[in-house]
Amino acid sequence: MEESGKVKVLTTIAQIGDLTDRIGGDRIDLCILIQGALDPHSYEMVKGDDERLQRADLIFYNGLGLEHGASLSTWLHTSEKATAVGERILSSSPEKILRKGDSIDPHLWMDIALWSETIDPITEALIERDPEGTAYYQARAVQLKEQMAEADREVRGILHQVPPEKRYLVTSHDAFQYFTRSYLAQEGEENWRERFEAPEGLAPDGQLSPVDIRRIIHYLKSHGISTLFPESNVSRDSIRKIASAGREMGLKIHICEETLYGDAMDGENLCYLDMMRHNAETIANYLGAHD
Ligand SMILES: [Zn+2]
Repeated sequence: MEESGKVKVLTTIAQIGDLTDRIGGDRIDLCILIQGALDPHSYEMVKGDDERLQRADLIFYNGLGLEHGASLSTWLHTSEKATAVGERILSSSPEKILRKGDSIDPHLWMDIALWSETIDPITEALIERDPEGTAYYQARAVQLKEQMAEADREVRGILHQVPPEKRYLVTSHDAFQYFTRSYLAQEGEENWRERFEAPEGLAPDGQLSPVDIRRIIHYLKSHGISTLFPESNVSRDSIRKIASAGREMGLKIHICEETLYGDAMDGENLCYLDMMRHNAETIANYLGAHD
């Protein structure tokens, strides 16, 4: 393999890859391991992955239980060149990390301001590996922080066009808790968790019990919700079952024709901030921002 002299960086998910690319620019060679609509929760290594991981100088992954496929998680937990950027946020800002039952919610990227806290650990690791690029990385990190702060305000502005009594969200799995706290809730709202429900848990598993269905139907009824939002990397079976059970009970329910990006940003040429804007605009349109 030809050596480019660049820092070889591997990230698990594209949401980390995009930020790393913006900081590292042309001083790095980037490889994103979990491509397209693959589910990062259950991803297991395939042929060639071992070599990709070996070849990397630096590895960035989310951690907090996200990449829990046995082969990959073993690799990540035993590698000295791997940094868990989500776990770094857990150490620096533990009060911002959400839980569901006994589990930590790993979907930190769904809150842009929170996700921008991964910029520092990524930048520090790049500088440690490539000190000559210090000024370059630092300047790009500052610029990226500004862009993300602006996008954070923009996304909140889009969602807040929807009146608060309509800002209730049902998606396939529990990927949108951080999103709900940051963008659907009113400022300082204590019961913000009430604004989000999903039939599948923190990791989509396709297992839907009659209790889950009844819980979601009750939720739809009590908040007057009529739209269910599918996610790109999760099967629509659960959403379909709930829609048909709801209709049998006489509820007016439809499935959003557009797809949200929760775990995977697999749209054509989609970057992280565009993924978040897409989610915001889709949700705002369907919840009735312009009724
Ligand atoms: Zn997820």
